[in-house]
Amino acid sequence: MSTPSALSLQPGIAPAEARAELQARGIRYALASFVDLHGVNKAKAVPIHHLEAMLAGSELFTGAALDGVPQDVSDDEVAAVPDLASATVLPWRPDTVWLASNLHLNGRPFEACSRNILCRVRDQAARMGLRFNLGIETEFFVLRRQGDGRLVPASAHDTLEKPCYDLRGLLDNLDWLDELVEAMNALGWGVYSFDHEDANGQFETDFGYADGLVTADRVTFFRLMAREIARRHGLIASFMPKPFADRTGSGAHFNMSLADLGSGANLFEPEDGTPGGVSELARRFIAGVLRHAPAICAVIAPTVNSYKRLVVQGSMSGFTWAPVFVCYGNNNRTNMLRIPAAGSRVECRAADSACNPYLAAAMLLAAGLEGIREGLDPGAPNLVNAYRLSPEERRERSLATLPRTLGEAIEAFAADPLGREVFGEAMADAFLSFKRQEWADYHGTISTWEHDRYLELF
Ligand code: GLU
Ligand code: MG
Repeated sequence: MSTPSALSLQPGIAPAEARAELQARGIRYALASFVDLHGVNKAKAVPIHHLEAMLAGSELFTGAALDGVPQDVSDDEVAAVPDLASATVLPWRPDTVWLASNLHLNGRPFEACSRNILCRVRDQAARMGLRFNLGIETEFFVLRRQGDGRLVPASAHDTLEKPCYDLRGLLDNLDWLDELVEAMNALGWGVYSFDHEDANGQFETDFGYADGLVTADRVTFFRLMAREIARRHGLIASFMPKPFADRTGSGAHFNMSLADLGSGANLFEPEDGTPGGVSELARRFIAGVLRHAPAICAVIAPTVNSYKRLVVQGSMSGFTWAPVFVCYGNNNRTNMLRIPAAGSRVECRAADSACNPYLAAAMLLAAGLEGIREGLDPGAPNLVNAYRLSPEERRERSLATLPRTLGEAIEAFAADPLGREVFGEAMADAFLSFKRQEWADYHGTISTWEHDRYLELF
């Protein structure tokens, strides 16, 4: 696979010039792409000579055909208006460029569009003189489907009970990993580390943080790219949060900080320089996120399966490393909000790899900004292993539990005004009705577990 270097179109470049530059690079097709409720890419492709029209919003979509683009089939179509700054050449198809787009309706931003939703909260931050910096860790499984239909790790040797950081497990998978990491770096993302994670067949490829919107675009593209590269190796890349009950799941930890919009200075750096610390502004941000944690959870852990990850046990290596309680603290993986040892940023560990990164980032940022505006105090940090606290100890510390099921999370979202403020009425309603249906569908199925347990018990 050839790996083209990153595109560097001048900010504000005229559409005709952009077309000429892309054509000079051999680009033949452009994709006007946006995401549905699940963060899954949808697009129309146009031959490159049509780029100027596409940039002006020529590509129309009937939202009624999609999950979470709330429209009636009789409504006017929404138009995808691509953001040239997001232009990304497909590493596996160097003649095709992908452009993240904002949906518009009748010439104005469509309220219920994931990217517009994040843009609105980003604008709120900008009005407060703040820029949201975000790094999202990408945990995912790469599996092979055997002849008998079973899904197994890509490498047959990947059988250790404690496969975390295993070097042989990493080297066995280096062919497809190398292709993926090379492609990420060629796009200018700055991969700084990749490893075998805690479950057989699980990996993580970490790249540099950027503006929240840029990172949400990249993660959206990353899933497409990882699946495609794995497919070319006869493998399946999966972003399902918890594919196997006895192994750790896939988080998408959100590493967040706020910078001064003008100078770029990190405002989460502790005032007194305490190593591993954060500023008073960061503490307020944390308090805002904790206040809205149950509602946020519905968005950052948005599937039935997500809640099978947010448990204490279930990993062969002992713990799941996923949060269960609404708490923040030090460099301690049992906290929902962790302040890593390096300090100056806050990591939300409850988010999983199935989240729509635009909606997830929008909820977290909006809650954090509320904490800042209201000067909230997050209270004392949790410095101990939260998994080991007894129910009495948890009560003493007022440690609430994160929603235990998608059903609980959805109702928390419905009860919290933040969801409607961030999403807007139509998107909040669409999210609730879609997710309530998902929860009802799940309960409408009878599992093998139920047969094994009840069929002949009584
Ligand atoms: N895979 C774990 C999760 O579900 C996290 C492991 C880690 O901290 O890297 O969040
Ligand atoms: Mg990890």
